[in-house]
Amino acid sequence: MQLTHSVMKNKFQHLGWQVGLSYQTPRPEGKRPDELRQLIHEMRDHGMSFLSLMLLSYSYFDDHDGYSWPPRRQSLRCYRDEHSLNADEKTEFLGDVIHEACQAGLHVQLMDTWGVWNPERIRKGYPGAALQELSDGRFADWVHCPDVPDVYRCGRDEMLDSLERYAAFGVRSYGIESVGYWLGTSSCFCRHTREAFARETGETLTSEWVQANQVSLRQWKQEHVGGILKRLADEVHAEFPKVEIWLHSTCDQDRGHSSTFIQKAGIPVVIPYMMHTAGDFSDIPQNLCAVSPLPAVGHVCVRSQPFKNYPVPPKNPDVIKSFFDAIERTEADNLIGLMFFNESCVSRENRRAVYDGIRRFL
Ligand SMILES: [Zn+2]
Repeated sequence: MQLTHSVMKNKFQHLGWQVGLSYQTPRPEGKRPDELRQLIHEMRDHGMSFLSLMLLSYSYFDDHDGYSWPPRRQSLRCYRDEHSLNADEKTEFLGDVIHEACQAGLHVQLMDTWGVWNPERIRKGYPGAALQELSDGRFADWVHCPDVPDVYRCGRDEMLDSLERYAAFGVRSYGIESVGYWLGTSSCFCRHTREAFARETGETLTSEWVQANQVSLRQWKQEHVGGILKRLADEVHAEFPKVEIWLHSTCDQDRGHSSTFIQKAGIPVVIPYMMHTAGDFSDIPQNLCAVSPLPAVGHVCVRSQPFKNYPVPPKNPDVIKSFFDAIERTEADNLIGLMFFNESCVSRENRRAVYDGIRRFL
């Protein structure tokens, strides 16, 4: 049965922007407090209820590089973006803005791509941090391996450090992304992953074993990555029990994400990618089914410009309108919201198309 408009509108608990505090902003210093205050008013005027703040950049994709807040932990300071206005203790402003957003009724989330860092810079604070490794010894371009102790430690530290600064202002959730394997259908072949694999399966991780045992490998990845997510969630919840941890994923089994183990990790919401391509929305039902029974807040890329080293096509108002048409047609019952990315990189026309589209669900 196709859901009616009136049924759909009750499902969207979360509608809002995801904003790169520095990522893809037009100036080195990133967002300014007056821009974010203006955005809060604009969001409320258009019925939005959700604000996700992305707190780091990597120059592989953009001119900005590093953390957009001033870390207190010594080991994280190597990756502070010295150009970012909010990353300087003397000009830091985000806590007050988060407070104002919460006062305005918005659900505020912090977002961290987790493990996507400038390799040379992050190693100054976490010397063992290493990129994921292929079986032939080549390395991934930008995703670090969660099995490497310094990578895990850094990912956990940045969550705790940003929450220690901002949770008290009213942060409700913390989104993370890249915990898992990002090398197609294989795994990471670094020493730490191979050791974990041997310890947990009694087998030796080789490219030959991977080719002959794809199903077993997938099962291991889902359980193993689920364990990493649980450890991470437990450690963050020990300090911040009220902050929900959400995972940005389409529950791609090859990456090691399954709704069963995500649930076991204590992660209550998944953020599936919904408009990485332009114009083909046929995978929306399938992606929502893959994350089920977990509720999903769709991650909707509405950026109007192409950017370097990441093959996501730019969007225009026609594509955005077609996306909302597809959402109105969806029969999935676990879609509870939409977040539009990246507010710092949308044209006036795309912004208008987003506001016009969400009016259908208000
Ligand atoms: Zn590894």
